[in-house]
Amino acid sequence: MYYNRDIQSIFLELKTDENGLSEADALQRLEKYGKNEIEQQKETGFWNIIIRQINDPLIIILFVAGLITLIIKDYIDSAVIFAVLAVDGVIGIFQEYSADRAMQALIKLSAPKTIVIRNKKEIKINSNEIVPGDIVVLTTGNKVPADIRIFDVKELQIDESMLTGESIAVVKKTEKINDENIQISNHSNMAFMGTIIMHGRGRGVVVYTGIQTEIGKISKEITSTKKVQTPLQKKLSGFSKLIGFLALMLALFVVFLGVFRGSEFGLMLLFGLSIAIAVMPEGLPVVVTITMAIGMKKMADKNALIRKLIAVETLGSCNYICTDKTGTITENRMTVTEAYTNGKIFKFTEIGYTPSGKIYLGKTEVKHDDDLYKLLLTGLLCNTSSLYEENNEWNIEGDPTEGALIAAAGKYGINQESKAYEYDLINEIPFESNRKYMSMLFRKNDIYTIFVKGAPEKILEFSNKSDDQKLNNEYTRMGKSALRILGLGYKHIKKNDIENIDLERESTNDLIFAGFIGIIDPPKKDVANSIKNARNAGIKVVMITGDHKITARAIAEQIGLINKNENEIIVTGDMIDSRPSGYIDQISDKVNVYARVSPHHKLLIVKSLQNKGNIVAVTGDGINDAPALKKSNIGVAMGKEGTDVAKEAADMILKNDDFTSIFEAVKIGRLIYENIRKVIYFLLGSGAGIAISIIICLLLDAPLPFLATQILWINLVTNGLQDVALAYEPDEGDLSKQPPRNPDEKLIDAFMLKHLATSALVIAFGTLAVFFYELNTGKNIEYARTAAFNTVVFFQFFHVLNARSFKKSAFKMNPLDNPFLFVS
Ligand code: ATP
Repeated sequence: MYYNRDIQSIFLELKTDENGLSEADALQRLEKYGKNEIEQQKETGFWNIIIRQINDPLIIILFVAGLITLIIKDYIDSAVIFAVLAVDGVIGIFQEYSADRAMQALIKLSAPKTIVIRNKKEIKINSNEIVPGDIVVLTTGNKVPADIRIFDVKELQIDESMLTGESIAVVKKTEKINDENIQISNHSNMAFMGTIIMHGRGRGVVVYTGIQTEIGKISKEITSTKKVQTPLQKKLSGFSKLIGFLALMLALFVVFLGVFRGSEFGLMLLFGLSIAIAVMPEGLPVVVTITMAIGMKKMADKNALIRKLIAVETLGSCNYICTDKTGTITENRMTVTEAYTNGKIFKFTEIGYTPSGKIYLGKTEVKHDDDLYKLLLTGLLCNTSSLYEENNEWNIEGDPTEGALIAAAGKYGINQESKAYEYDLINEIPFESNRKYMSMLFRKNDIYTIFVKGAPEKILEFSNKSDDQKLNNEYTRMGKSALRILGLGYKHIKKNDIENIDLERESTNDLIFAGFIGIIDPPKKDVANSIKNARNAGIKVVMITGDHKITARAIAEQIGLINKNENEIIVTGDMIDSRPSGYIDQISDKVNVYARVSPHHKLLIVKSLQNKGNIVAVTGDGINDAPALKKSNIGVAMGKEGTDVAKEAADMILKNDDFTSIFEAVKIGRLIYENIRKVIYFLLGSGAGIAISIIICLLLDAPLPFLATQILWINLVTNGLQDVALAYEPDEGDLSKQPPRNPDEKLIDAFMLKHLATSALVIAFGTLAVFFYELNTGKNIEYARTAAFNTVVFFQFFHVLNARSFKKSAFKMNPLDNPFLFVS
């Protein structure tokens, strides 16, 4: 038990302190305690796959067929059937095993991460590498990665419902609890693995990891995640069953007709079963899984990690992308370029987080300016981030907006570390998108000051100022040049009032206005191009940002989302709130940019678009974005900036937080669907061709064109490699120019049916033509069948090339575009 002990004794026991472990020590502990996992990632066992293979109705039919041949002493056929069984089984196992491996590898890529202090520095590591003694930083929206004794909190609230059933978030404290026997729901200085940080932040020392944790102890009931089928997979397995049923009916018909015409029952039964097997597209479900796995791999190469298989499929019909601005469309590498204070406009040199450079007022370099000093100091102190130098490059730990403020203060010569020494943090209100400001209360000697920063209109609202209009004009001017703007202010508090101060109330009125700071955050290089391509592909892009309307407009113009001179409307959260509830439905399909919105507006926008029949992908990173991510058709979470909660709600995670990756994933989603259609076309076309040729012979009372074993052999050649190879077909080049697929579209539409019928008839009549020609020129039946057999095999070769495109002739396609198909 750790809740009833003071933190120093715990540090002593775990041989650690606030500065964290050293890397070497952590490594040793990892060996000693094992990975911080409740359950070892279970890969689908080899035997499971084998059992699944044996469970396949097709295999059972083949097996029965094999037994029949044994009974009727047709040993050559038995040998062939059992060989087919073995080869089919091996291929099936190999296919499933590799598909499974690919999926597992992808799941591992999106494993959760945690900030720990190692070698005295904050670093992000995979949560499963945390060890007892590690110091962990807990931040809003993330999951607690292990069982932790907390020793530092700032408004920390944790949702422990998964452990205690209590749905109200628990306020966490640091004091030791003197009670001996209390329930874990009252362990207010502990944070438990798997619970969710709803608010605030904190630090703590890891006391238990893996199965030693509270959740680990009760996790035996928690089974590993079930495999769920996507609608397409379900549709396809239903479809396979239907075709399977039809195939069996056909087989029965053949047996019946054959016996009726005087053939031996055993032979006809074998024959009937062979036809059933030839017609059944039994490879389809596996091929679909493989196609999806290949697609997921391709998406991962483009930095889009799929969390839920369904996204692979839905992406193909996505026609709306609702995206954040900061970090997704823009670089999220922020630099202060301008500051406004007390009628003066200062300009800063140097881009990036390097805390050195120059500041100019007009043409003169500024060394001292009291107003500027107060402004920059406010930005530096009202700050939870830090800068560090690595390989001659300055980087930030924390929020890029805040990093920019530290670098700007550095250009004036104000150093964060020395200030941290002078000022003691007493209390704080963290930044949140809904609140749009943050505030921190410091003590220096005996003077208490609240420093506040946030959206400029908020800070103006909280401040004592006389020249409202002038200040409004000032930040509007800054916003027009695409600057992200912060307002800053501060307020001194009397020492006597400190005891029972309501920080929220004090931060939101009578502030001394310090000024504005303008930050550039340029759009990413490829974004404008991706937006143009998305448009050409029939996908509408909508930017939904918490930033100011003017900044949003300037960025939207830069990336070509809206036209420069047009007076396109930009809808704000306030507009949505202040108008009747139907407003959003009136405008949602006309608006390209939303500004100053909160996450709940995002949800309204997504719902409205969906109600109009759109398939919507939406991005998000914060805890409050989770509802919109869940509601959307494809929830996209940010891999770098995203919280665990957002990631868990999402279907897809962008490793690099880049808008371009969404569009790339959409393209691959389309390709996957297209390739699945090609496989269906190939498998059904071949099977139907063989079936038709046999039925015609039966109807004409002619000898049958194949032996049962020949059909089995064709089936093996057909299904073994060529169908899988089709899954590797590259984009024909026009997928990104077509409109999105209608999600209600039938897998086999009239167009495909027409093509299926044509190919099946060509295969059937072509084969029969050869067969009857040989018979008519006096060749014996064995000779004619061999000819028919080879004809069908060659038809398959051509048909698979034909199936590579629904639009282009096989002769116009480079066979080497898909080398695997060529070889197979
Ligand atoms: P997006 O929603 O596209 O990611 P955003 O990051 O601008 O855009 P929010 O994070 O909701 O959206 O920020 C809203 C506003 O709050 C910003 O325009 C800025 O003025 C202010 N702001 C952002 N970060 C901070 C911060 N760390 N401290 C104080 N104010 C901030």
